[in-house]
Amino acid sequence: MIHGYTRTFGSMDPRQTSLVHTLPIMEHFYTLQGEGFHAGKAAYFIRTGGCDVGCHWCDVKESWDADKHPQTPIEDLVKLTSEHKGDIVVITGGEPAMYDLKETTQALHKVGKQTHIETSGVYELTGEFDWITFSPKKFKAPHASIYKGAHELKVVINHPSDLEFAEEHAEKVNDSCLLYLQPEWSKRVRMMPIIIEYTKNHPQWRISLQTHKYLNIP
Ligand code: SF4
Repeated sequence: MIHGYTRTFGSMDPRQTSLVHTLPIMEHFYTLQGEGFHAGKAAYFIRTGGCDVGCHWCDVKESWDADKHPQTPIEDLVKLTSEHKGDIVVITGGEPAMYDLKETTQALHKVGKQTHIETSGVYELTGEFDWITFSPKKFKAPHASIYKGAHELKVVINHPSDLEFAEEHAEKVNDSCLLYLQPEWSKRVRMMPIIIEYTKNHPQWRISLQTHKYLNIP
């Protein structure tokens, strides 16, 4: 299943209108995808700097300020991903959809990579993605366009009331979108039994675990 996104920005868009040759990169590493449908698969992760969503439980707060992360040539990132056997490249953040990702995703496709993104959906997505993980947050409303193209809806459960929030978004996503509930890591002991019971009673949902944290890998 492939959903492609290609957008040309108008002058009112806060992002750049020309090709983006660099991205602020906090880190990049080859590991296993820990979460969601593709959990357990080898993947190269590219974490962009910059996020204005402001989740209080965020586990990558150091990503928030884009200026703290080096502008890295897209060409270099693509070359690095090519040095590893895994086909999947996950662009995450921060909030990667703050940036025009068309050039990056096209370049990754050219070297045979599958492009995945993890986004809160607050910006209209640009680029060509083979897998879109939509993880909405209570702190900033998603852009309406994300619901149509998302392949999986992954809602972090930090409090029982987040289950209601999850259902609100599940009603809006496309029919083939997979539904995942994932305990917020620091609350997992309290939240896990609640999520298990909820999933047993609402079997359209699946549980996503941050398996990379259990495995102690990046
Ligand atoms: Fe952190 Fe993601 Fe929330 Fe941004 S959207 S604050 S990176 S958890």
